[in-house]
Amino acid sequence: MVMTTLQFRVYGNTAVYQAVEDALTLTRHLYNAALEHRKTVWERVKHRTEFADNPTQARKAFKEELDATSYKAHNKELTGIRADFEDYASLNRRLEVAALKRLDDAYKSFFSRAAKGLGKGHPRFKPAHRFRTLGVANVQAIKFVGNTARVKGIGKMRFRKPIPEHAVVKSFSITKKGRRLWLQLQVEMPDDEFRLPRSVDAVGIDMGVNDRAMLSTGEAIPRVELDWKGKRRHQRRLARAKKGSHARAKKRAAYANFCERERIRVRNATHQASAAIVKKFSRIAVEDLNLPGMTRQVRKAEDGAPRKGVAQKRGLNREILAQNLGQLREQIAYKAERAGRDFMKVPSQYTSQTCSLCLVRDVKSRKSKRFGCTACGYQLDADLNAAHNVLRLAFGEDALKPLGTRSAGRQLRLSMGDLSAEIRVA
Ligand SMILES: [Zn+2]
Repeated sequence: MVMTTLQFRVYGNTAVYQAVEDALTLTRHLYNAALEHRKTVWERVKHRTEFADNPTQARKAFKEELDATSYKAHNKELTGIRADFEDYASLNRRLEVAALKRLDDAYKSFFSRAAKGLGKGHPRFKPAHRFRTLGVANVQAIKFVGNTARVKGIGKMRFRKPIPEHAVVKSFSITKKGRRLWLQLQVEMPDDEFRLPRSVDAVGIDMGVNDRAMLSTGEAIPRVELDWKGKRRHQRRLARAKKGSHARAKKRAAYANFCERERIRVRNATHQASAAIVKKFSRIAVEDLNLPGMTRQVRKAEDGAPRKGVAQKRGLNREILAQNLGQLREQIAYKAERAGRDFMKVPSQYTSQTCSLCLVRDVKSRKSKRFGCTACGYQLDADLNAAHNVLRLAFGEDALKPLGTRSAGRQLRLSMGDLSAEIRVA
């Protein structure tokens, strides 16, 4: 069995959208209140024990107080809250429990990071725009009838594509972004549900910004053309509107909707591309992209003077982030795994500077979009050369052999009458 997440855009009447918005508000307040409780009790205990000889030992005296802030204790308190507040009582209790669980998970990951010496990331209070998901671990809160899902306290939601027959729903969540509703189902499926028939080809993939990705077969996945002009137009309109005005709220909603639409467009293109790649090839290799490194800002000079290339690099960073190459790689990875394909990540270092024919590495061989080997003269598209290197690093020299472009390169070399090259190739 494999666990996977299926996402559906869902539709409901206005009451449903309102119910989701209300539930988000209620559960968010619960989340923030629980966080506040944990924080204040901890601060108080810390303050009282800070100067003890052994603070850890001293804090044991406050165990009861600290225990009252635990997930378990908060969960119990929910009964009282539901008795006192009608709006909380009318909401499905599981949605409320999920918000408390979410906080507990946030703390758990904070503690585990702290234990590793990565101290940052204390759970934060959530403003409305950072709390868009209702998550539920217990599937009994949802009932499916045909193409509708019914959640107590939310209502009926229709979806358009059917749930796969063999999927067993384990948990679900509802996300509201802009004016759209999404239903995410965490499902368990039989292993062979996604298995694909074996194919013969192997592929190396170079990801970048000229094209979104270049395959070692010479096929390119074009980048998604983003509507930067539209984005600026929305931003300008928003900037012109008076703060706190009704018009501004409307423009903000329009801008959020625009961003969401762009995001969906990129994601859909990513799904199409990753599915096509996994369908076609049985062995797939990608670069282990160093995205934080790729999108690093140009460092300021010592005296703080601006350096050359800052604007270009900023534009490039924006483009790299918008193309969502990480998403593409992740989708290929999980689709490959569930389809039973071989999937490999190779270090991306030097794949663009190394000649895929003679393996000589020279930074001068890479001339923007073309690759021209300074050692053997092999010439081809720079991204294609990198894709060949990715393929070779992952699956060895043999994986390159069936490629047409490769033999063309060799023939070209031989016709130039370079004997040493002939010997090396043979
Ligand atoms: Zn070469």
